[in-house]
Order: sequence, then C-alpha cells, then structure tokens
Amino acid sequence: MIGGGIAGLVAARELSAKGLRVLVLEARDRLGGRVWTDHRLGRDLEMGGTWLHWVQPHVWAEVTRYGLAVTRGPRPEQAYWLAGDEVRTGTLEEFMQLIDPGMRRLLAGTMRWLPRPAEPLAEPALAEVDGFSVQDKLDELALPAEEYHANEAAWVGHFNAPLADGAFTSALRWTAATAGSWHLMHEASAVFRLAGGTRSLVDAIAADAGAEIRTSTEVRRIDHGPDRAVLTTAAGERIRARRVVVTLPQNILGDLEVSPPLCAGKLAASKEKAASKGVKVWIRVRGPIEPFFAYSSAAHPLSVVRTEYLGDDDAVLVAFGADAARISPDDCDAVTAALRVWRDDLDVLDTTGHDWMSDPYSRETWMMHRPYQVTRYLNAQQQPEGVLHFASSDHAGLWAGFIDGAIESGLRTARELATHLTGAR
Ligand SMILES: Cc1cc2nc3c(=O)[nH]c(=O)nc-3n(C[C@H](O)[C@H](O)[C@H](O)COP(=O)(O)OP(=O)(O)OC[C@H]3O[C@@H](n4cnc5c(N)ncnc54)[C@H](O)[C@@H]3O)c2cc1C
Repeated sequence: MIGGGIAGLVAARELSAKGLRVLVLEARDRLGGRVWTDHRLGRDLEMGGTWLHWVQPHVWAEVTRYGLAVTRGPRPEQAYWLAGDEVRTGTLEEFMQLIDPGMRRLLAGTMRWLPRPAEPLAEPALAEVDGFSVQDKLDELALPAEEYHANEAAWVGHFNAPLADGAFTSALRWTAATAGSWHLMHEASAVFRLAGGTRSLVDAIAADAGAEIRTSTEVRRIDHGPDRAVLTTAAGERIRARRVVVTLPQNILGDLEVSPPLCAGKLAASKEKAASKGVKVWIRVRGPIEPFFAYSSAAHPLSVVRTEYLGDDDAVLVAFGADAARISPDDCDAVTAALRVWRDDLDVLDTTGHDWMSDPYSRETWMMHRPYQVTRYLNAQQQPEGVLHFASSDHAGLWAGFIDGAIESGLRTARELATHLTGAR
C-alpha cells in the first residue's frame, strides 16, 4: 500500500480482513494524508478535510461502525455579501434566497447529465457538457451583478479554484450526489464534522487495519512485472510485493518513477493538474462575536468566511480562497486585509493553515476537475495495470474529492485486488 491516507488505510483494513499480509508505506510522519487534525490557535483544527454528512454513504458507514460523534459549528446569525463595493448584511436565509435562482438555473440539468451519480459516465453524452467551465455556465445566466457575485463566491467556496478552471460537471456531480438539491449539497459539504476531529476516524481505521504501517517512508520507484512489483523507497530500500495499491493524489502520481510506465490517461491527468489550487485559512479573532457567514466574489483573495468555533473571549473563523498563490494562511496582515472587505471591526489575533499546494505529498487540495478531465481520464485513473491497483478520492465514483470518496475508492480497490489474487468475490 503506497500512502496512509483514508483510501490507503481503508484498503489495508479490507485486505487484512481477507487474510492478506499488508504493508502500508506512508511518506509523511503521520497518517491521514489530506485529513489532518492539528492543535493550533488553542484548538484542534482541521488543516484539510473536515465536513461530512449522512448523505455520504461510505463515510457515514464508518461513523456508525466506530460510533464516532458528530457535531457542527455555530449557526450563523448574520450574513455579509457584496453589491459592488457596498457591503450588504442580512440573515443567512436572505443570502440563500439571493443565490437560489442562479443555483436552480445553473443546476437544472443535473439529473439529466448524471442520472446515476455513483456512475458519473453512465450518460454517454456527458462529454457535451464536460468541456464547459463553471464560469462559462454562470456567465450564460446573465445574472444581476449582486446575484452573480454571490453565486460566484459560493462556487469558489466549493471549487477552491478559479472558476474558469473548474469543470461544470464537477458542480453537477456534487449536486447529483444529493439528488439534485443544491441546498442539501451545500449542507453536505460544509456543516457537520467529527467531534473528535478527523483524527478520530484515522485512528479508528488504523487501529483496525491489521497491517504493518511504516511512516516517514517515501516510495520513489516501482518496477513491476506480471506477478510481482519491487518498490524502492527514498532511503534506497527495495521491497517486494505481489500486488501494490497506489493512492497518490492525481497531481503527483505522474512524478512517481514507474517501469513500465503508467498508461497515458493517468499520466495526462497528472500533467494537466486538478483545477483546485486554493487555500483554507483559520483565523482567531477577539471575542465575543456573533456567529456570521460572509461571501465576497472570486476577485478577492478570500471568497468565503464563517465562524466555526465560539469561545467566551475569542472566536475561530474558517475562510477559503480560489488561489493559494494569492494569500498565505500564515500572513496575518494579508488575512486581516482580506477580512476588511466585509468587516473592519474584527480584531485578528492569529491565523494559520497548511499550504497543500506546496506540500510534496499532495500538491492539490480536494479534487475538482478541469473541463474534459472526467470524461477523458476517469476510467483510465481507476483501471489496474498488471499488479498495480489505484485508490484515491480523486477518482472515486460518487463523492469524488471527499473523505467519502476516499473510503469508496479504498473499498472498491481492495475488492478488485482480492479478486485478482484469490478469485474471491
Ligand atoms: C483544505 C482541504 C479541505 C478539505 N475539505 C473537505 C471536507 O470538508 N470534506 C471532505 O469530505 N473532504 C474534504 N477534503 C478532501 C479530503 O480530505 C480528501 O479527498 C481525502 O482525504 C483524500 O484521501 P486519499 O486517501 O484519497 O488521499 P490522501 O489523503 O492524499 O492520501 C495519499 C497519501 O499518500 C501519501 N503519499 C504521497 N506520496 C507518497 C509516496 N511517494 N510514498 C508514500 N506515501 C506517499 C500522502 O502523504 C498521503 O498520506 C479537503 C481537502 C483539503 C486539502
């Protein structure tokens, strides 16, 4: 198993349960990959994946299996958005009503294009819309400026990318997973989280994995033949395996030395890179404050911010922007300036986050495809190649880009590998 993120750990658990001997090689000094609960700003904060929901079947099965407690952030009492340079305030409900017409029109064709959300390529004509960016489709609506910017900011929050780079089909896939309801899609992706942090999920799966797990072990090279593979680690160790599960994110898979090389579809997707290249920032402000939600537009370094934790004398906000190159989570002054777009009354005490785009073991945040990537590459990304199998949330069927997708992919790949090895079903 190359990688001890959620997909790798789930695949390890399933394969061990089938009686196979599993070795997990993880490059970082910790497990979890793009989920990482770290103690910062006085709280356990999620640097990566955070929110989950009962409409996400694979992650919810894990919540049930391990009896994990689920909680949520404070309900926002006030919303802020922009109309040109003017800041508008209202209730969250009023904001939702503002974006509702745009959301409905944009997503009207969801179930036509994705009649079976867990099989995104089920509709043979999907390529007809896969070439559009979400920006193309938003522009077609010719919304009034206030509605346009509010919708745009909401989509930047979902895409973590410049909207001209993000495939319209990614927006459709998220919404199809909630049977066409954008409200439910919105809730599924941004409200409920694990009370014990994603660490509680990672620890539970790892404890159950029944595998030997080695951290700080980067795999640099794979040589594979018809009935075995040899992995070479960064330290020069050579490890033989009958089968290998590769869980590297799309953006770095092409950097792994593989002989014979991976198929063209996998390499092309890796070279093109995902659309997502954004930033997630945690901001501690002096309290007490009322919980709020704020949306700007794609033009601002932070497009979305909201209160996630409330203390007696402080509060912690979480914010997202489309481009990690435009703002560093550790640059307190820049983050303070970005917040002033809506509010100049907040006293910023400290900020933090993780730069996933510079992280050599991810170089992406959560998967959002570029136009044509799903129809061109998804099949190739999922396909095994000889003794090599591939698991990643990045190419999951249903909730690709989510924790749920990592679990789905780990389960699917473990079943596929075990079937090859033992003929078992
Ligand atoms: C900022 C951010 C916010 C997110 N928010 C949410 C959210 O709210 N809800 C949600 O459901 N999802 C969210 N996600 C997405 C979710 O976290 C990921 O989709 C999921 O965790 C990916 O799991 P994975 O196992 O497929 O990949 P990864 O977690 O990337 O696992 C791959 C593993 O492989 C390791 N690795 C890489 N290269 C090597 C190598 N050469 N040798 C050995 N090991 C290697 C990596 O270190 C990593 O541990 C977010 C992600 C980010 C970054």
